[in-house]
Amino acid sequence: MTSQIRISGEVFTREEAQANQRAQVFIELARENNTRIECLCHGDTAPLPLYSRRVGSQYVLCRMPETGLGHSPDCVFYGETSHSTNTTGQIERVDAIEEDDAGISHIRLSVPLTIRQPADRKKSAAPQPNSPRSPAYAAVDELGLLRYLWHCARFNRWYPSMLGKRGWTTVAYHLGKVASQMEVSGLSLSHRLLVAPGRIDHSSVLADFTNEERIQANTDLFFVIGLVKRVDASHGQSYIALQNLRERLWFTEDVWRLCRPRWEGVEQATQPIDGQCVVIAGVTVNERGFLRARYANFLAVSRDFVPFVSPWEGQLVSHLANQQRAFMVRLTPDDTTAGLALLDTASRYERLSIIPQGGVSYGDTARWVWDQNMASTIPELPPAISATGPKVGG
Ligand SMILES: [Zn+2]
Repeated sequence: MTSQIRISGEVFTREEAQANQRAQVFIELARENNTRIECLCHGDTAPLPLYSRRVGSQYVLCRMPETGLGHSPDCVFYGETSHSTNTTGQIERVDAIEEDDAGISHIRLSVPLTIRQPADRKKSAAPQPNSPRSPAYAAVDELGLLRYLWHCARFNRWYPSMLGKRGWTTVAYHLGKVASQMEVSGLSLSHRLLVAPGRIDHSSVLADFTNEERIQANTDLFFVIGLVKRVDASHGQSYIALQNLRERLWFTEDVWRLCRPRWEGVEQATQPIDGQCVVIAGVTVNERGFLRARYANFLAVSRDFVPFVSPWEGQLVSHLANQQRAFMVRLTPDDTTAGLALLDTASRYERLSIIPQGGVSYGDTARWVWDQNMASTIPELPPAISATGPKVGG
């Protein structure tokens, strides 16, 4: 018998609930709206509660504590011991992001949070030729972290009611809020993240942060996130000026050489729609209070801070907002492309697929396709049946 799972009133098979994108979006919405996720192994009149947990870029379903014996013996959630049983056993997998029972996401980073001294480096970097390779742990880099923050703060969603309500002030506030639910290297991310403030910084936000968090000059790394106001890379010393932050991010030639192509890519993507660019940098601060970027990456966003990757995705994002549609951009930490979907159609999740000029479809099953080999203008969108959404621009 196939177990069925009800998520926010919609019934899915267990397999769908685990792997299907539409079901994953329903789980996401259930988390946000605190609506029920239920196992229907005893039929739909005796539902048993489940909860969702994030593992990597997916949600897995788990039974509630003490409910294991209530499930039907042939249900995957049946059992007496650990309550963290889930539908696939994925908790055992080593993933970059794992949420614990308290809702805190533990994130494994592939980028450093301290600068090691040459002496330390010699000690620990000695290769051990005979030992087997350590397992390849999944880890996210700074861009993966930025995307994850964006996703958790729900800036990958757009509802027409948000128009005019999502500026940097809102963004900075919500990024700070979600960061307090995340841990990196055993520390709350809040202790290692400075988000450029919502208003112009008259007092020194940076000095307050480094004092409070006891950041060691030149060795402790922390993240800075901000809206790029100006990039100056013309005089040997490169810097990025951020909205509302007095201090600039300084780049040595080496670091800028790595960052420049990323910056150019995002600039190219944002140009057609007059979009914006968000930077995340791993920085150290020196004794004089200057910020030095050790690594950095960029995220393209629309004027309303909806993220996208390619120029054509940017065009579609801007078109959907102009058409007053409710939509989302799937932006998982480890994907190289985003995917768009409408949330206001009859199915409540309608994927939109783009085939760029010269590109081919890789067996995509989306019903709506903008094939740029056929049409340079965006085809007519699937009709909307409702445009309900949260009232605040979060
Ligand atoms: Zn069950």
